[in-house]
Amino acid sequence: MDLRYWLPRAAEVAERWGERFGAFAAHPSHRVDEADFTAAFERFAKRLEHNYPFFHPRYAGQMVKPPHPAALVGYLAAMRFNPNNHAYEGGPATNDMERECVAALAAMFGLPAHVGHLTSSGTIANLEALYVARQSHPGRGVAYSSQAHYTHSRMCHVLGVTGHAVPADADGRMDPGALEELLRTGRVGTVVVTCGTTGLGAVDPVHEVLALARRYGARVHVDAAYGGFFALLAGDRAQARELGIDTAPWRAVAGCDSVTVDPHKHGLQPYGCGAVLFADPAIGRHFAHDSPYTYFTDADLHLGEISLECSRAGASAAALWLTLQLLPLTAQGLGAGLAASRRAALAWAERIEESGELTLHQRPQLDIVTYFPTPAGAPSLSAIDAASERVLRRGMADEHDPVYLSVLRVDAADFARRHRGVAADADGARVLRSVLIKPEAEAWVPRLHARVAALAAEPPAPAPAASPGPVPVPSPVLSPEESAR
Ligand SMILES: *Cc1c(COP(=O)(O)O)cnc(C)c1O
Repeated sequence: MDLRYWLPRAAEVAERWGERFGAFAAHPSHRVDEADFTAAFERFAKRLEHNYPFFHPRYAGQMVKPPHPAALVGYLAAMRFNPNNHAYEGGPATNDMERECVAALAAMFGLPAHVGHLTSSGTIANLEALYVARQSHPGRGVAYSSQAHYTHSRMCHVLGVTGHAVPADADGRMDPGALEELLRTGRVGTVVVTCGTTGLGAVDPVHEVLALARRYGARVHVDAAYGGFFALLAGDRAQARELGIDTAPWRAVAGCDSVTVDPHKHGLQPYGCGAVLFADPAIGRHFAHDSPYTYFTDADLHLGEISLECSRAGASAAALWLTLQLLPLTAQGLGAGLAASRRAALAWAERIEESGELTLHQRPQLDIVTYFPTPAGAPSLSAIDAASERVLRRGMADEHDPVYLSVLRVDAADFARRHRGVAADADGARVLRSVLIKPEAEAWVPRLHARVAALAAEPPAPAPAASPGPVPVPSPVLSPEESAR
């Protein structure tokens, strides 16, 4: 796809369509001088260089990458119409596209029936799921694993619901035994399982949790904001076996009550694209409201009638729809990129396990690799923390061969469960974390590993070879966990 051809084509769609309504004079108040615009644009473009190279395999930090060109073209073309998917008359075309995308996402998880919509983020999708949970199980709390995204405890606070953190096992998965103890108290109405935790990419045992929750009359919400699209690989027996993906948790998602998935993470979309799906279409009653301003063309339930958000970009639905025409939700379609990410994670983990410079923190369950520099002397949490921080900073500061990682804070107990003989001289340690969200990471693994291993082997004092040149970006990107603390 050559964007030099497709971007002007995208911009023309609204223009060509608009011609049928006849010419009119644009108001002079918004007219700008071409030279002024040129100058402003140059300043603007310069400002944008203050960024990290998310597109490049050297960037192996957070779960970020640029959108697919098809998403970009779809978004731009639709944005010129500026449809608002709050209500059908806000843009019938993109409302229809949204419904089709949502149906495709529901089918990916095997939901037998569904109602749902796109959201501006996974956070809002989870808020909506927990709102429905509260309405359907009033007076009872919400349980989530200690490794769940911090949004769950925050949103419980927003909703005035008690949140309960359930301990995780040594692989970062919710401990079903601990959950059952909590369920027995009768205080929990909803269990949140995470399919792909943000920190470690751990997949909770959805099948076990679902059986327990049903026994105690609780709902189950699946937070698959980051990991959801791995359902494509889990749904293909041969792929799942080859890639070492346990299919049992994924198969159980179809029996859960609601699911969050973020197309703006593994779905190749620009930011502003999450999704929430509910298995029971009757939950729409929790959103019943009467707006005097909207809803005058469609007898169906409007997307705006099942959402807490009001205005939403129809362009997001357009971008996703166009992307899915080309890379459908199959193991061979969109799944091919996820398979490459998964292979990259397995290959890097293997290299780390064989290396003297780095230690694997935990075996990757999806495409997130966590590791730390192997301490030279007596191992301690403070030494591991300092060494991880050093590799993070030096990697970014190197002008000639930079590498961009992220860090994850692990508390002392979680650390001790995975590594023996490390002195607990602090309440935790940061380890390095790489989300290999780009399929290009697969070919880059040997270089990534060599670069990070070399950084880990450098002595703690400022290396004489370190470049004194300007650091491209002054502050490191913090992991969501870290920035939340
Ligand atoms: C990213 C993420 C969220 C939050 O989603 P946003 O789109 O960033 O608001 C919630 N849960 C999990 C598991 C995530 O990975």
